[in-house]
Amino acid sequence: MPRRIVIAGGGVSGLVTAYRLLCDPDLFAKSPTQPDDANAIDLATFRSDLELVLLEPNPDLGGNIRTEERDGFRVEWGPNGFLDNAPETPRLVRQLGIGERLLPAADAAGKRFIFVRGALRPVPLKPPAFLFSDLLSPAGRLRVLREPFIPARPDPKETVFAFAARRIGTEAARVLVDSMVSGVYAGNSEELELGSCFPKLYDLEREHGGLIRGMIALQKAKRAAQKAEGTARKVGSAAGPGGVLTSFDHGMQVLVAALTEKLQAAGARLETGAAVTNLEQAPGRGWSIELRRSGGASTETERITCDAVVLATPPGVAARLLRTHAAAASEALAAIPGSPMVVVGLGFDPAHLPAPLDGFGFLVPRAQGVRSLGVLWDSSIYSGRAPKGQVLLRAMIGGARDPEVVGWSDAQLLAQIAADLRTTMQITATPRQVWVFRHPQGIPQYTRGHADRLTAIDRATADLPGLFLTGNGYRGVSVNHCVEQSIPVARRIARHVGAR
Ligand SMILES: Cc1cc2nc3c(=O)[nH]c(=O)nc-3n(C[C@H](O)[C@H](O)[C@H](O)COP(=O)(O)OP(=O)(O)OC[C@H]3O[C@@H](n4cnc5c(N)ncnc54)[C@H](O)[C@@H]3O)c2cc1C
Repeated sequence: MPRRIVIAGGGVSGLVTAYRLLCDPDLFAKSPTQPDDANAIDLATFRSDLELVLLEPNPDLGGNIRTEERDGFRVEWGPNGFLDNAPETPRLVRQLGIGERLLPAADAAGKRFIFVRGALRPVPLKPPAFLFSDLLSPAGRLRVLREPFIPARPDPKETVFAFAARRIGTEAARVLVDSMVSGVYAGNSEELELGSCFPKLYDLEREHGGLIRGMIALQKAKRAAQKAEGTARKVGSAAGPGGVLTSFDHGMQVLVAALTEKLQAAGARLETGAAVTNLEQAPGRGWSIELRRSGGASTETERITCDAVVLATPPGVAARLLRTHAAAASEALAAIPGSPMVVVGLGFDPAHLPAPLDGFGFLVPRAQGVRSLGVLWDSSIYSGRAPKGQVLLRAMIGGARDPEVVGWSDAQLLAQIAADLRTTMQITATPRQVWVFRHPQGIPQYTRGHADRLTAIDRATADLPGLFLTGNGYRGVSVNHCVEQSIPVARRIARHVGAR
């Protein structure tokens, strides 16, 4: 009987984990983020009798990643790119043979704005510009400048807001950090846990005593490394902190398509329209999985046994599936909420806009009289996102502070977005094209207690051999995190199944 692995969830986490197991020639080799694995198994033998089944309830693979093409527009459902400074994603892209399709964000996208006190205000890119920026009041700016003199009190369990208010003052925390938290997590900075959400910020205080000192030290180290390498890489321009935001010529879907193609060529069974609905430990063989296929009006169920099951679903789904096997893990998983949100794509004739879309777009901190979380000027970020003579915006609305909007009708959503565009960008024109993408699960929220929850989950699942959890619910929400985490998890799965 061949060894069988079932992966529940065809988002990037499930797909990349499947790719690592079935195709990655370097799974156990040293990588930029993982050491050489002393307990490597022989991959050729392991793969010679391996059956890999991936089950995804949606009609398409990709999870949050999906690019819709219509009338010359190329609109992202979810992520519009990844930062190129995390090494595993570019490495995966090269392995997949799609390196030449990478598309870095335009330089102009380095200009970012925050809507505060009734206007779009540029985010200063360099410290001297910050002194003269009107993003914060003069008192707020002075408070930020006092940051190096605030005593260090690193605490990974502090909320992101409490940390920021302590180090850079309440005004900067509300304007700068609230925006960042909206941009990355669609979250509430007063609930998110610093060490789980922004471990690098926590490290700056712990290792260097503060943010400004830490950033200076990192800049110096980076310059020294570049000098030694003889390279002068473009740093932090179009991307935000320390990397260049990057997508593909035809959008993020290119990554999903390349993974799908490799997996199919390697013989994986990729089933869409099929949800995992139940799990049971099977005597003599790991797990018995119930899957439900739904097509049209009919549904059918099937049971398959396997040596390992990988839950690459949102944490809430994993919580339901584990309720009877691992109550403690299930409880901890259920306590990882999502931030339901809606992405609204809008195609405009630029002649109808009061000002050119020169930049990345803007974010909105709380209490600015605007319900949207922010608006990305997608056609200014990447070429090829809108047909000639048109522009594409994507507004985000909802999130942890405003989850109910995901239940609104399209008409309600569009009316709110129109009002917000009027307030922020003085747009009064009607868009020519509209797309509404609902994300009922949104982005997982690493709220206070997240690190303890992960410990509880790890402890409880350690007693369930052959069960593995992966995805954006645990140790990083970005595409880069999902790609990076797939290596250690695939190594553990391969070792477990290979030892059978
Ligand atoms: C609007 C939005 C914008 C974002 N922007 C960015 C960005 O610009 N850059 C970035 O790096 N990240 C961004 N992210 C985050 C990033 O997209 C996600 O973290 C990443 O795509 C998550 O991948 P995943 O596979 O872990 O989860 P998902 O993509 O959520 O995939 C989980 C899959 O599990 C499936 N599933 C559910 N129930 C079952 C079941 N019972 N059985 C089997 N399968 C099941 C789901 O259908 C889904 O396909 C964004 C996210 C959102 C929502």
